[in-house]
Amino acid sequence: MTVRVRFAPSPTGMFHVGGARSALQNWIYAKQQGGVFVLRIEDTDAARNKPEWTEGILSALDWIGIERGSYEGPYFQSQYAGEHRAAAQRLFESGRAYYCDCTREAVQARTGSQYSGYDGFCRDRGLEPGEGRALRFRTPDEGTTVVVDLIRGEPTFENKLIEDFVIARGDGSPVFLLANVVDDMTMGITHVIRAEEHLPNTPKQQLLWDALGVKPPVWAHVPVVVNEKRQKLSKRRDKVALEAYRDEGYLAAAMRNYLMLLGWAPSGDREIVPWSVIEEEFRLAEVNPSPAFFDEKKLRAFNGEYIRALPIEEFVDACQPWLTGTGTIAPPPWQPEEFDADAFAAVAPLAQTRIAVLSEIVPNVDFLFLASPLVDEAAWAKAMKEGSAELLDAAVAAFGALESWDAESLKATLEAIGAERGLKLGKAQAPVRVAVTGRTVGLPLFESLEVLGRERTLTRLRAARTRLV
Ligand code: GLU
Repeated sequence: MTVRVRFAPSPTGMFHVGGARSALQNWIYAKQQGGVFVLRIEDTDAARNKPEWTEGILSALDWIGIERGSYEGPYFQSQYAGEHRAAAQRLFESGRAYYCDCTREAVQARTGSQYSGYDGFCRDRGLEPGEGRALRFRTPDEGTTVVVDLIRGEPTFENKLIEDFVIARGDGSPVFLLANVVDDMTMGITHVIRAEEHLPNTPKQQLLWDALGVKPPVWAHVPVVVNEKRQKLSKRRDKVALEAYRDEGYLAAAMRNYLMLLGWAPSGDREIVPWSVIEEEFRLAEVNPSPAFFDEKKLRAFNGEYIRALPIEEFVDACQPWLTGTGTIAPPPWQPEEFDADAFAAVAPLAQTRIAVLSEIVPNVDFLFLASPLVDEAAWAKAMKEGSAELLDAAVAAFGALESWDAESLKATLEAIGAERGLKLGKAQAPVRVAVTGRTVGLPLFESLEVLGRERTLTRLRAARTRLV
C-alpha cells in the first residue's frame, strides 16, 4: 500500500506557523515512507475564502521547502461538491442519516440546555428531504469508536456520547466534517496527520468512514502550538503568519528546523541540525503529544546562528530584498540610486555577526547610503555631552589631516583625542558615532568610517558640530 498523506489548509487568512509545522511533518512522513504528499485547499467556506490566501499558502509552502510541482495537487475542495452530495445521499438512502427540521430553539426547549446537543427527535420521523431540513448522521447507540493515532495511542470515544451531528445543512450543502472525509476517500488518503484541534472531530469522521464502507485512515494528531502563557497561538494576539517571519528576515532553513522541534528533537544534544538529519531521524510516533511552546526568542537566536553560518556571498545575497525592498518587503529609507553594492559588501561581514533577522540589516547600514544620517534624537541626547562640541572639532581637524584613511589610523587618532580629555575610547566614540550614523549602537565605528570615506565623515562631523553651537 502506498502511503498517501495530505495537507488540507483552509484559505481563510495568513498561513499559520502551526500549519507550516503540520505540512512539514506530512511532507517528511511521506518521504520516509516512499509515499505521496497531496495538497488540498479546503475552500468551501465561500464567505471567508480569498484567492490571495490560496496563493499565500502556495508561496509560503514553496518558501519552507515544499515546492510547487513536487507534490500532488493542489486540489480544491469546492470542485468535489458532487462527491460530497453523493455521499450525503448514500448515507440517507442506507438509513445512516435522516432529515431533521428541528430549530435550535426547539431542541433547547426540549432538552432544557444549550449544551446537551441534539436529542434525536427526528430519528424515526421518516422525513423526506426538503428546504430547511438538515441531514443528520445517525450515530450508533452503543459501543465505542477507537481512533488509531500514531502519536496518542488509541483514544476511545463512547458512541452514545456522540450526538447525531449534521452532515448537510438545510440548503443541502454538505458540512466540513463530511466534505473532509469524502475528499480523503476520493484522494486515497491513508494517513491523516493534522493538528490536535481536530481530534474532537475524529470519532465522528471515523464513523462516517465506516458508514461509507471504507477503511478509515491512520490518524496522527500533532500537538497544539502555544505561546509563553500556554495559550493556543492566535492570529489576533500572537505573530503567527509564516509570511510575517519571512518578511522580517527569518531564513527558511532556520524556520523549518525550528518548526520541526515543536514536540520533537533530533538525537544527541542537538537542536540546530541539517535538514537531511531531520528527514532521516524524525519519527512521527516520537512526537510529544503535549502542547508545544512556540518560543519566538529561541527562534530568533536560532536564526542568528543560521545567519552567521552563511558563506558571506550568500549572506550578501540574502540581504538583497531588504536593501532593495522587493515583493512584500518594505522599501529601505534610501533611494535605489543611493545604494552602493561595494560599500555594502565591505561592511557585510561586520553586520553578519550582529543581526538576528535579515531586516535588521537596514538600520545597521542606512548611514552608508543616505545623504545624511537618520538621527535618533534619544541617542543624540544620550551621546552629546558637555565637551562633545570640542571633541568633534578635534576629530574634524585630526581626521582631516590623516595620511591614510583606514580603520586603524582612525581608531588611534580618536583614542588620542579621548585621552587628552580623560575619556576612554568608548566615551570618545559616542558623539562621533551619533554624528555619523545617527545611532548609539551599530557596526564597529572605525571600519564604518573607513567605508563611508573621509569627505562624508567630515561633512557629518561638521554638521553635528554646528547643531551643538
Ligand atoms: N481545513 C482544515 C483546517 O485548515 C484541515 C482539516 C484537516 O486537516 O483534516 O484546519
